[in-house]
Amino acid sequence: MSRIFKNFSKLIYPARCPFCDKIIADDKLMCDSCKDKVIYEEPLKSVLENSFCVSPFPYQGIYRDAILNLKFKKRQRNAYCLSLYIVQAVRQCYENEHIDFITSVPLSKRQMRKRGFNHAEALARSVSEISGIPYRESLVKIRDNKVQHTLNRIERAKNVKGVYKIADTKITGNKILLVDDIVTTGCTLAECCKVLKKSKNKVICCTFCSTLLY
Ligand SMILES: [Zn+2]
Repeated sequence: MSRIFKNFSKLIYPARCPFCDKIIADDKLMCDSCKDKVIYEEPLKSVLENSFCVSPFPYQGIYRDAILNLKFKKRQRNAYCLSLYIVQAVRQCYENEHIDFITSVPLSKRQMRKRGFNHAEALARSVSEISGIPYRESLVKIRDNKVQHTLNRIERAKNVKGVYKIADTKITGNKILLVDDIVTTGCTLAECCKVLKKSKNKVICCTFCSTLLY
């Protein structure tokens, strides 16, 4: 029964190249053409107000397309391929760090209803699967705010203030890897770090793309 269901779901949700969205064989991570285009050199490191963030790619070209496909075409399956690069970047930067668990930037209840899934969580769960480090929901978004990309830097910092809280007060004294899709001004990640640090956790951040360097 479960195999029939699995095959049926493969028909409805065939594997797609995370970068160009073409249908690909089920055992492939991406299409041959994108395989030649994806060039991972070294991790991009961004300095946040209260933490650091590593990302394998800049927010441009096919890497930007990959985020848009994941987020807006709701290609949850793509998260695994993208997370392979995130894990590589994290390993290169934090080789000797012990990380207790992985978490993600949460969406509000309304955003979840609208989008159907949290793309950051999909990435974080794949990072967990690949690295073997457990995933734990640690933050809750308690109210809706304006979409960050419509605002300038000062407005963004204000816009995220107080919108997150810790999911469980028992989450304390850990080293946490916080995952999101993209770091732009770093205001969202910095606010999430603030909340986690307030409960005496240490936090490092990672995303698939970064715009902070250019
Ligand atoms: Zn492709």
